[in-house]
Parts: sequence; C-alpha cells; structure tokens
Amino acid sequence: MAKITSFKYTIFLSCSSILNLLFFSHYLHRGMEQSYTKNAAAEAEAVAAISCSGHGRAFLDGSILHGKHVCECDACYGGPDCSDFLPDCIADADSGDPMFLEPFWRKHAASSTIVLPGWHRMSYEFNDGSLISKELETQIRKLHAVIGNAVTDGRFIIFGAGATQLLHAAVHALSSNDPSSPTIVVASTPYYPVYREQTEFFNSEDYKFKGDTSLYKNERDSQGNFIELVTSPNNPDGQLKKAVLQGPSVKTIHDLAYYWPHYTPIPAPADEDLMIFTLSKLTGHGGSRFGWAILKDETVYQRMLIYMSLSTYGVPRETQLRVLKLLKVALEREGKEMFDFGYKTMRNRWRKLSETMSMSKRFSIQELEPKRCSFHQKVREPSPAFAWLKCEREEDNDCNAVLNSVNVTGRDGSLFGDESRYVRLSLVKCEDDFDLLLKRMQILVSEENDSTKIMPQNKTTVNLSSPRLNACSNWDHVTSKFHLEELTTDIRDGATMPAYLQ
Ligand code: PMP
Repeated sequence: MAKITSFKYTIFLSCSSILNLLFFSHYLHRGMEQSYTKNAAAEAEAVAAISCSGHGRAFLDGSILHGKHVCECDACYGGPDCSDFLPDCIADADSGDPMFLEPFWRKHAASSTIVLPGWHRMSYEFNDGSLISKELETQIRKLHAVIGNAVTDGRFIIFGAGATQLLHAAVHALSSNDPSSPTIVVASTPYYPVYREQTEFFNSEDYKFKGDTSLYKNERDSQGNFIELVTSPNNPDGQLKKAVLQGPSVKTIHDLAYYWPHYTPIPAPADEDLMIFTLSKLTGHGGSRFGWAILKDETVYQRMLIYMSLSTYGVPRETQLRVLKLLKVALEREGKEMFDFGYKTMRNRWRKLSETMSMSKRFSIQELEPKRCSFHQKVREPSPAFAWLKCEREEDNDCNAVLNSVNVTGRDGSLFGDESRYVRLSLVKCEDDFDLLLKRMQILVSEENDSTKIMPQNKTTVNLSSPRLNACSNWDHVTSKFHLEELTTDIRDGATMPAYLQ
C-alpha cells in the first residue's frame, strides 16, 4: 500500500514539475517578446521627452552630440534647446510643408504610434502578389465616403510615392504614345510649377508641356491630343477649378491634393475620370511620401501600374502600415476632430492675414467667398493653404524682392506661369513660421501707412515676445489633452477668440 502511495506521489511530482517548466518557459518567452517593444517604446519616448523650448523637436534618427539627441529647431530659433530667437532671420513662406497639423498628431501620439519589428513584411509583395495593402485601400474608400469629397465605388485605386510620382505616372498613362505627334500637356495659369518642371525634366518624346490652357480654348487651336491638369482648389490661389478643354482628344488629370475640409468648403463629392490625392496635405505627413489615384478606366489603371512597378515597385510596406494607422486616427469620431482642427487653424491664419492686408493699398491677396461645405453641413469661411499676393504698384514688378526687403520670402509668381508681381505665401507651415510671416507683413503694411499710422488695432496684432500657444511645437504649453481641447473650442467661434490665438 505504502509503495502504491509513494508511486502516486512520484507521478504527481513529475507532472507538476513538467507543468511548472512549461509555464515558466511560456512566460519567459512572452516576457522576451514584450521586451523588444518595451525597449523600442522607451527609446522613442526618451527622445520625445527632450525639451526643445517649444520651438523644435528631437528625433530618434536625428544627430547625436555628446551621446544626446540634438534638437532640430524651427526656422528662426537656435541654440541647444531652440530657446534663442534669431531676430534677423528670414520669414520663409516658400514651401508648402503642412506642419500646421503637427499639434494634432502630438495630441494623438499614443493612438497614432506604430510598432515595426525587424521582420515586418520583408517580402517584395503581399501574399496575393499585389503591392498594396487591401486594408489600406478599404480605409481610403471609407475616408472619402465619410468626408464626402470623392466617389470611389467601382473605381480603381493605385498608390504612389506621393502625388508627385502619381502625377507623372498619370501623364505617362494618358499620353498617346506617338512621338510624331506628342501629347500637349497644359494647365491654367497660375499653375503648380511641378507640372511644367516634371514634364520638361523627363523630356519624353510622347508629351510636351505647352503652358496655359487658355491658349487652346478655341477649337481651331486644339489640334492634337491634350492632357489638361486641373488643380482644385488651386495651388497657388485656392480657387475651385473645373476643366477648360473638352472633347474626345482631351484627357484630364484632377489634382485634388487640397480638396479636404482644412482648405476648402467641399461642395460635393468629386467624380472625375482620374483624381489624385496625397497624404501630405491630408494629415501633414509629407515625409511619408504617400499618395493615391482613383480611376475609372481600367486601361489607364494598368498603364499606371506598369509605371509604378518599373519605377519603384510599389510604395514601401512601412509607409503603408503607418498610413493605415494615421487614417484610422484621422477618421475617429467621423473625422470631426482632425478636420475641425485643420479647418480652424487655416481659417484663423487666413483671417489674420486678410485683416492685415485689408489695410494695404500696395498689396492685395486673392478674394475667396464663403461657401456651403457638405462635410461641415454649413457655410464655411475661406481657409486656403496659400495667399496669392499681388504687388499693386507699377514699379513693384518683382514682388518677392519687395518682400525680401523686410526679410520675407515667398515663391515667385513667374514659376506659376504668371507675372513676378505675384508671390505665393505659404500658410501651412508651423505656427512659428506663420507668426513671423504675419509680423513682417504687418511691418510692411504699417510702413506703407506710416503717415497715418494705420495698423490693425484689434486682436490680430502679434507680439512675438509674449507667451502664446504655439500650434507647431510649443509643447511646453500644449502638453495635455485639456490644453488642445481648450484651443480647439476657443477657436470654434471667432467672436470669442482669446488674444493669444488672434
Ligand atoms: N499637387 C499639388 C497641387 C501640390 O501642391 C503638391 C505638393 N505641394 C503635390 C501635388 C505633391 O504632393 P506630394 O507631397 O504628395 O508629392
């Protein structure tokens, strides 16, 4: 009997040891699995916590000095922690880098962060042999349905390394492939300079850039095949545009980079043959290099696919994963938060600049009308990405030179196929950039009105030395959810805007 009991104990003890070992190895394994994300997260958070005085940011892949990541400062700030304002620096309103959305992503750092293990999608292709994430394609269709800015049902979608790559792929796909009669590529002046630059640079026998669309409006001038590039809202002047040329020999590319509620009221969903969108102007992630085209015609779609596969063999899988995450966050609460933030930031900038420019006779900016927006379901004020500034005086035919005299630089109108008395001023950069631009424009206008000392007497006067909320990188002030919500509520209604936001 004693023998049987001892045998039972031995069996019981052995089983228990084996089970313990199994549990231990399972937890050890899980612990190791978690630790790689933990270490990566700790590394990322340590860099994010480096203080750059609200005028810069440190990045994991940025320079390292004395073993520490270095702050990358906003344009007119310097010093190790970006706390030195550089008073003589140039207010650079040239590039259309949409950094104004950075505060939104700072606020949503937790929900928008992705984890990328070393083994993530190493293959050239997805399992089905394609180069695009089906999940991301679905998310893009959902995005357009929620915002109501484009029809995607029954349409083909193709991804590219930004709208820049897709534009050229589209020109290639629509051209007639006949060097004896190259397709004529046109755009309405003022047009986005890359249309001309890109077409000339690639120097194809199949197509040639021929300038302003209006030159070919009359039927007798329109011999040959045409590609018309239509930008709506237009870069530089923010106007909603329609195609000018019609007929069987005309193909149209609709560049809808700015057709989002940040920049324009959305009258109705666009339903064109070939539409191009970009992440850069939607979420502000220009560096991710992601855009997409929506097409009706399968043959054109196939030709664009060939272009994509021969130029880059698709968009990096890392980018696709990141974009998927960003779009999910952008669509939280049916897009309300991101698009409200985007719209209100841009509208407030436009209000401030318009108010300043209304004091001037020497300069003018484009007129934009409030319009009904189907996304917001109400009439919306203008909130364009750029000001199209005109120097009105006869002698000021080089408008950028006039601006340079007060340390402002924009993009010369001649690059847009127009006169140099126009300059494009970017309003989409970070708050530090916009503030400095506004201040310098106020100085220019006040000099003009010196005798009468007319300056905007109201809330819009900017004092750069006062502590203010900074929508680009002033994280010392915008550290909590509470602060940013306060900011978005405050700017909801212009009538109640506090001084620091004016
Ligand atoms: N189209 C227009 C009208 C643009 O303004 C831009 C960017 N400035 C692009 C296309 C290119 O966008 P991406 O950053 O996606 O290459």
